[in-house]
Amino acid sequence: MAERHAHDHDSAEGLIPLEEARERILSRIEPLRPLQLPLTDAYGCVAAENIFSAVDLPEFASSAMDGFALRASDVAAASSNDPTELKVVGHAMIGQRPEATVGMGEAVAIATGAPIPAGADAVVPIENAEPRDDDLVRVFDPVEEGRHIRPRGEDVRAGEILVPIGKRLSAGELGLLANAGVPHPMVHPRPRIVVLSTGDELVPPTDTPTFGQVRDSNAYTVFAALREAGAIPVLAGIVRDDPESLKEAVFNYEIQADGFVSSGGVSVGERDVVKAAFFRRGDIDFYRVAMQPGMPQGFGFIEGKPFFGLPGNPVSVFVSFEMFVRPAILKMMGRAQLGRPEVTATLTGEISGPKDKSVLARVEVTRGPDGWTAAPTGGRGSNLIATVARANGLALIAPGVERAGPGERVRVRLFRSSED
Ligand code: AMP
Ligand code: MG
Repeated sequence: MAERHAHDHDSAEGLIPLEEARERILSRIEPLRPLQLPLTDAYGCVAAENIFSAVDLPEFASSAMDGFALRASDVAAASSNDPTELKVVGHAMIGQRPEATVGMGEAVAIATGAPIPAGADAVVPIENAEPRDDDLVRVFDPVEEGRHIRPRGEDVRAGEILVPIGKRLSAGELGLLANAGVPHPMVHPRPRIVVLSTGDELVPPTDTPTFGQVRDSNAYTVFAALREAGAIPVLAGIVRDDPESLKEAVFNYEIQADGFVSSGGVSVGERDVVKAAFFRRGDIDFYRVAMQPGMPQGFGFIEGKPFFGLPGNPVSVFVSFEMFVRPAILKMMGRAQLGRPEVTATLTGEISGPKDKSVLARVEVTRGPDGWTAAPTGGRGSNLIATVARANGLALIAPGVERAGPGERVRVRLFRSSED
């Protein structure tokens, strides 16, 4: 990757600024090819085209009340002293085309939701009418034309857009599409992302580690972060620090993957397994980003599918996922907004880091009467995973600034809402 642009911090030489690293990745990510998915699978996905309605909604005029469908002009002179008597010529039921039509001096008994019979232009509710014998009804009040009728096409007209391109399908959209008879909308699917943890020292969290072994936490951090971003994580387990094993694991999963996230093994060392396995292919770059934590990163493509080689330290994994993987996943899903909400908050403690890097400190943000405050959740070591669990935001200190103390204002990226 190219050198850093002119900058006055020599120590940052060879490091890529955070924003630039992010842009380089995102510029190479494309939304996944659209598919027609059943509604339940399309939930949460982004419409890949303007979805039009072929029908009017509602599709037929129906009654909003139980009562009698009639002609408003027939009851114009009705009053409690002098009710108008109409002949009941049939029943209109839900789910059926009414057989009867309403002529002059006639009415059809109708249920809520039943289609309005031809000839009728209003409904008189049962409370304002008095059925007589079998086939007569007395009406005591006049009614305006259209009263208690839900008109056809009141909600949506045939040819109108139901869901515009780029909109995410949530509850309202799903119900609307179902109602309009679009059971397989064209959307960008959720990417299936294969998750690999590398390291000879790792054991699954169900095992008891022997001294010096470490339980694999990264797979679960990445799993949850992928889910939250909308992707489908596929846990491929722990891979030993052996390039052949890693290649085998990756190519075993390649067929079902839209992308990969590995953790560990991307530092400069020759024995770093991800680098050893894939660097020679030429399509995966390994580089260092001017950020703390999360400096070493790998990114490229395997069989056209993005491969994110994240560093091994648990905090670095979380932070690099936030900065690089999450926006890429959102872009693959066709989302337009790739960022997180940000607030400016007042620090309650000190945060610090290397002067020439973007420092991302874990903070707990709360909203008080005087605005947002941000409390650091612990030390800055990138192995301290509990500092992530206690936090809801990442405070950003830009390159060139070494520390920020209590009372200072900092920008914070919120990664979960303060209620969660
Ligand atoms: P590496 O970059 O592979 O040298 O890993 C850096 C540090 O992160 C080491 O202390 C590893 O033990 C630790 N680490 C790597 N992968 C994991 C993982 N999946 N879960 C927890 N810790 C890990
Ligand atoms: Mg390792």
